[in-house]
Amino acid sequence: ILKTPIDKPKVDNLVPPPDNPNNYERANATFMILVRNKELNGALHTIQQIENNFNKKFHYPYVFLNDGKFNNGFKNRIRDAVSGECYFEKIDAQDWSQPSTIDPDRQKNSMKQLDDEGVGYAKQVSYHNMCRYYSRGFYNHPRMKQFKYYWRFEPNTDYYSDLNYDVFKFMQDNHKTYGFTISLYDVEQSVKTLWPETLDFIKAHPGYVHPNAATQWLTENLQNPHKTEMAQGYSTCHFWSNFEIADMDFYRAKPYSDWVDHLEKAGGFYYERWGDAPVHSVGVGLFEDKKKVHWFRDIGYKHHPYTNCPNGPHTRGCTIGDFTYKHLKDQNCLTNWWNFEMDDADKAMY
Ligand code: GDP
Ligand code: MN
Repeated sequence: ILKTPIDKPKVDNLVPPPDNPNNYERANATFMILVRNKELNGALHTIQQIENNFNKKFHYPYVFLNDGKFNNGFKNRIRDAVSGECYFEKIDAQDWSQPSTIDPDRQKNSMKQLDDEGVGYAKQVSYHNMCRYYSRGFYNHPRMKQFKYYWRFEPNTDYYSDLNYDVFKFMQDNHKTYGFTISLYDVEQSVKTLWPETLDFIKAHPGYVHPNAATQWLTENLQNPHKTEMAQGYSTCHFWSNFEIADMDFYRAKPYSDWVDHLEKAGGFYYERWGDAPVHSVGVGLFEDKKKVHWFRDIGYKHHPYTNCPNGPHTRGCTIGDFTYKHLKDQNCLTNWWNFEMDDADKAMY
């Protein structure tokens, strides 16, 4: 199956690039990145690839979010690099700091313990803020509220495939809520109580769980040689959220937003190191129809150290069958997604 050349999804409603992107009727969508001034070069590196492979044909806008203030050097260099409108936005201080209900002593002790257990970024408060903001903040930023779909990207990531269809309209026209390329197991120590807290929440709100939820992917981890009971029933499987294309109306609706309010009260963004990837994934996996999740097999993508590298003439610069399928395959949860959850219609697209 991995030898078959991959070009684009086999559906008959793909929207090709317009003759003139300046008067093209775009989907209600934007690129989005949380970034600091010092990451300018990394951001430009990735934007160049996004522009060359996709956006120079469509001119979608970009939203740049920051807890600090973007300087003029950053803004000017970015403006020169993008073909779409761009917006530079500051995040409200209260969305970027722990709520007053977090006990500072308990927080400090937990951060030290997690650090001793080898959890990355455990002691970096800004990282906890970032994970919390990506889990429950960004889609309600006043600028983001004007959009429905977003494509999240990160500095210094690589996009290898020349895309000749409008991916946002693909999401819209095929009724997709969430798109990803890579799925991994997570560090169990970082999500010790995410699943028990979620079970408490759904006990109180059983109607929120979708009848076609991806429960096996969320709970099955027999293939994981590092399995322990630390995540208390959660497989730790997640969509790697550093690249994702999704519909924010899903996050804004009651099930997801009530659930992340519950998570906020539980405190795990600070007493543990819950990442936005497991939060998006458990939310989408439980509260959305799994048919509405799409594996973008055709999008060559790398965030160190993992790559999704499709085999096809539109992809250049990565090695076919790279990391995702070979090395570190211990960490790969994509096969569970295929085996347990992937919709037949989605499988038939490639
Ligand atoms: P990793 O991929 O888990 O190692 O985390 P990264 O360091 O790549 O951070 C994830 C994303 O959040 C990247 O887009 C970073 O630029 C951004 N980010 C992380 N910390 C901060 C922060 O303190 N301020 C801002 N503005 N962005 C941040
Ligand atoms: Mn990163």
